[in-house]
Amino acid sequence: MTDNHTSLEDGIREARALVESSSRIVALTGAGISVDSGIPDFRSEGGLWKRFDPHEYATIESFERNPEKFWTMGRELAETILLAKPNEAHSALAKLEDSGKLCCVITQNIDNLHQAAGSREVIELHGNYLRAYCTSCKAEYVGDEVHRGVARGDIPPKCEKCGGILKSEAILFGEPLPKGPMEHAIKACREADLLLVIGTSLSVYPVAFLPQLAKDSGARVILVNLEGTNRDGVADIVLRGRATHLLPSIIGV
Ligand code: NAD
Repeated sequence: MTDNHTSLEDGIREARALVESSSRIVALTGAGISVDSGIPDFRSEGGLWKRFDPHEYATIESFERNPEKFWTMGRELAETILLAKPNEAHSALAKLEDSGKLCCVITQNIDNLHQAAGSREVIELHGNYLRAYCTSCKAEYVGDEVHRGVARGDIPPKCEKCGGILKSEAILFGEPLPKGPMEHAIKACREADLLLVIGTSLSVYPVAFLPQLAKDSGARVILVNLEGTNRDGVADIVLRGRATHLLPSIIGV
């Protein structure tokens, strides 16, 4: 729906017209875009935070105190992420980039599914679960090998070179966001003529400010989400529904 008086069909039509008339589109995605790939968002019923208290399992302090605990949760996440394949919503964004209209995808996700769908310009604000590094010698591990070991119960994973404990590159609570990607995201939002916000509750800062920033810089904003968010008021068009149904319709693929 775009507002209380407009049907979903009208909203889709308006959104599609906006996509057609825009040339510097930026997408901002969150966990909701990957739900139909089999990765639940963390906050919903059955999500990770309902079973693992993030204060206990997913802060940088808890990792430093007890990395086994983090990797026990990490094992479940690894099993889910390794099985996931990109869905129609990830593919629609990759096609929009191929058409030359989409400049980049800014994502809070750590699942690598935008890249797997073919997106090239992906700004990862919260890191990537498929990259890890040694907390002692800083050796980098790229790809799914570490997580295949974790999924087999190899917890906590250790560095092949020095035996140090490995940490996933995904950002934990209490860790600063990597500076480069956030700066890049702010620049992209300032230059966009349309921001497509997809599958995020917009409850994590500073990401939650990006739609307002884009709007203040002259962009139109379309919000695609299953439920209301506390930033719906910023959007020109709000579409309630599944990203896999709505994105192919508004992007026209
Ligand atoms: P969130 O869980 O706070 O919000 C997700 C939103 O997506 C919800 O409002 C929900 O209504 C909506 N949603 C659920 N299914 C949907 C669907 N099929 N189509 C459209 N919308 C749908 O997620 P967030 O705002 O991204 O913040 C969560 C944090 O947790 C992020 O920092 C992220 O790093 C991390 N996370 C990542 C993944 C992943 O990489 N796939 C998964 C879970 C959480």
